[in-house]
Amino acid sequence: MKFIKPKDINNLYEIIDNIDRQYLLAGGTDINVQIKNGIIRNPNIIYINHLKELSGIEEENDSILIGSTTSFKDIIDSRIIKRHIPLIHSSLQNFASPLLQTSATIGGNIANGSPTADVIPILLALDAKLEICSKISCREVFLKDFFIGYKKNVMSNNELITKIIVAKNAEQKYQTFYKKVGSRNSLAIAKVAIAGLKKVENEKIMNIKLAVGSLNEYPRRLFKVEEYIMGKTLIEIDFNKVNEYLQQEITPISDLRSDKEYRYHVCVNLIRTFLNE
Ligand SMILES: Cc1cc2nc3c(=O)[nH]c(=O)nc-3n(C[C@H](O)[C@H](O)[C@H](O)COP(=O)(O)OP(=O)(O)OC[C@H]3O[C@@H](n4cnc5c(N)ncnc54)[C@H](O)[C@@H]3O)c2cc1C
Repeated sequence: MKFIKPKDINNLYEIIDNIDRQYLLAGGTDINVQIKNGIIRNPNIIYINHLKELSGIEEENDSILIGSTTSFKDIIDSRIIKRHIPLIHSSLQNFASPLLQTSATIGGNIANGSPTADVIPILLALDAKLEICSKISCREVFLKDFFIGYKKNVMSNNELITKIIVAKNAEQKYQTFYKKVGSRNSLAIAKVAIAGLKKVENEKIMNIKLAVGSLNEYPRRLFKVEEYIMGKTLIEIDFNKVNEYLQQEITPISDLRSDKEYRYHVCVNLIRTFLNE
């Protein structure tokens, strides 16, 4: 195993452009476990948590930019986040534990790509984008287009996530919802997680955004369910139809934390709860 600490951001881009089998170490709360358990063997580890260009939260025109190595503690404590995107502030309160929140980073949570990653459904519901950069260029990718399979994403070996971009008005005029169902409140991995935004006018649900975690090989939006619900009042919604579309969009599995039937029913009940609120 080789450990590299780039001297600055340009040096980081040079390094990732030239080394093949590599992992970035931000907070280390996922990768250290994977190294210890032998899931990753003899990697080149590149430390990125000291690079100030990758950290911090700022406002730019109509967007909030969150640096990829910003810790969950800094996100939860941020006045900018509380003011403009309170859904992020309130939803992350039960992320891991206070100790983990000081090291775990938002970029690491996304890039690690676990189906249970807490922040991904929240950002999906907010239509967040990622800035992904290499030595040569930067590009923006909607988070909904980032994952292409279990722990697979559209990044090349010489790229990294530099920023998470959320529109300042992403939740303006929306009612928001987040529920993480785990075995306990702290240090719980989600059995099911759901984030939602809805805009209701004259009892009609004019817009709805629903994103789920722990129900597929990576967290995703429920676009078919959203499309069916949009434009309807509560009594016009046929839950047999919701079930029909949901079955096309989620593929829950049974594992040590829960079984697929439980996950499915909890998801349906949470959608119902959100619609009734
Ligand atoms: C005890 C414990 C409890 C936990 N509880 C939770 C929980 O409640 N909810 C939850 O969602 N997760 C939880 N986790 C998982 C973990 O803490 C999070 O996924 C965390 O956000 C990972 O961030 P990190 O900075 O530690 O990532 P790291 O471990 O540093 O990196 C993880 C992966 O992401 C890649 N990476 C990191 N940064 C970037 C970047 N900027 N660009 C591209 N790739 C990058 C690395 O190469 C690596 O593959 C828990 C972990 C532990 C050990």
